[in-house]
Amino acid sequence: PLRHLGDLPAMAAHRYGEKTAFNFYADDLSFAALDDRSNRVANVLLDAGLEPGDRVGVMIPNTNEFPVAYFGAIKAGGVPTPLNLRMDPETLVFVLNDAGADHLLGSQLIGDQVGRLAAAAEVEHTFVAGGGEGVQDLDAAIADASSDLDRPERAYDDVACQPYTSGTTGRPKGVLLTHENLLTTIEAYDKGGLAIDPEDSFLLVLPLFHIYALNALMGTGIYSGTTMFLQPSPEPVPMLQAIEEEGITKFAGVPAMYTMMFREYRQTPDQYDLSSLEDVTCAAAPLADETRRTIEEAWDVPMVEGWGMTETAPAGTVEPSRGVRKPAGCVGPPVYNVELKITDPETRETVVAPDDLSPHPNPDIDFEDHDSVTGEIAIRGPNVFEGYYNRPEKTEQVFDDDGWFYTEDVARVDRDGYFWIVDRADDMIIAGGENIYPAEVENALYEHPAVAEAAVVGVPHEMKGEAPVAFVVLEEGEDVSEEDLRRFTLDHLATYAHPRRVFFVDDLPRSATQKVQRYKLEEEADEHLD
Ligand code: ATP
Ligand code: MG
Repeated sequence: PLRHLGDLPAMAAHRYGEKTAFNFYADDLSFAALDDRSNRVANVLLDAGLEPGDRVGVMIPNTNEFPVAYFGAIKAGGVPTPLNLRMDPETLVFVLNDAGADHLLGSQLIGDQVGRLAAAAEVEHTFVAGGGEGVQDLDAAIADASSDLDRPERAYDDVACQPYTSGTTGRPKGVLLTHENLLTTIEAYDKGGLAIDPEDSFLLVLPLFHIYALNALMGTGIYSGTTMFLQPSPEPVPMLQAIEEEGITKFAGVPAMYTMMFREYRQTPDQYDLSSLEDVTCAAAPLADETRRTIEEAWDVPMVEGWGMTETAPAGTVEPSRGVRKPAGCVGPPVYNVELKITDPETRETVVAPDDLSPHPNPDIDFEDHDSVTGEIAIRGPNVFEGYYNRPEKTEQVFDDDGWFYTEDVARVDRDGYFWIVDRADDMIIAGGENIYPAEVENALYEHPAVAEAAVVGVPHEMKGEAPVAFVVLEEGEDVSEEDLRRFTLDHLATYAHPRRVFFVDDLPRSATQKVQRYKLEEEADEHLD
């Protein structure tokens, strides 16, 4: 087994050599070239004075430059901090300064954004492929650098990467991931769940700066010798075209991406031949059952759901693509070597332990009574992070003495040991003593044909304490009144859970990984209701 993430390209180069690892339009990067070029980037950084453990900002869209820069930083003994390209400049400066990065690797494809950020965050050494104002030309530096690398020592449990969380619930948090965290996750995904192999062609459009694409997809893809087709932004037409033209067999997305793709596909279904697809994966945010059913039927592929977090590199659970199929919301059993349990969010007492599940479900637990098997997910395993960077109190608060990490995600588990994500604990709405999770209300709204996107938040309510209100984006050309939509949800939900108000909006505030930022909607709801 690998003990240093920087050895991954060398291993893949040894096994797969000149085979294409990454394709970006007309450019191919082989496994051998990835290893060679990342050695050169490592030398460039070492020449610029990088010391082991130094943070290296990586601000590159999904192109062949990304894996070269990322593995270059790791091979140099540095700690890459992939930057979220969709973040506002102020947050990016915060992230770079929080990480304390003195080195930044960028791409000319995003114009002078990198140079401006480097100036604002006062980064000392900035390299941009293709050069630019106030930055050094990474291409030229790579061409001059040696491909022989004297790699600085890093231990298995040293920090290898410092990604930031999506910022869905507030400011992004720096997450300390070790070589062990990242490598054991790749090995776990390779053993099951993603099931990609050298014959597969993978369409990789999810942003590489996020842990899902970074480690689950790119890491596992390199490990298994898969060719990855990169696209820099999730445009439905190029994505659908690439599937047909490149004979894509595997694809991974987030719910918003599938909704967008399907909206395009639906208009001219005969235009796209998607028959090469074998299965597709969805994670990162609640998936409406309606979305999943529609796509599975139209494209004739299983849509496999997974759950994970930046903090878990991101291994958590993955549904098997073959065998028993369960509806959306089910994210499958834990991946190899990772333990999950259900706990009481107030007391942290165990509600359902790993031992209570299949193959010998605990007869004392009534799995049919969903309330009694629902609670906060705690997770333990070699994939679980070291802690948050610069946030010792937060780190202290999320771990217990036995190494369990409390995720603030609520789920239930069934007797087969499959987990069902309910929602984030903090987003729970308590209305007249009843617990309502926004995701269940959103699911009901998605059942209405006119609803394209839905998000639900709680607002203060005089009598009930809190009440749910909904924000809805309508399908193009569709119309429905607030009253009709509210009445519609009554057929699908308990009376107390149906939204008191529905606000129609053009779009929803989303984090850079396209998750709805409900905290922003709470503020918006307050304004609407004032
Ligand atoms: P922040 O921590 O900054 O608020 P974030 O939690 O969105 O942002 P990530 O680490 O990118 O940052 O996302 C992890 C979270 O995504 C999980 O804690 C969970 O709430 C959500 N999530 C992941 N997979 C799923 C899924 N399949 N269904 C529902 N939610 C999911
Ligand atoms: Mg989080």
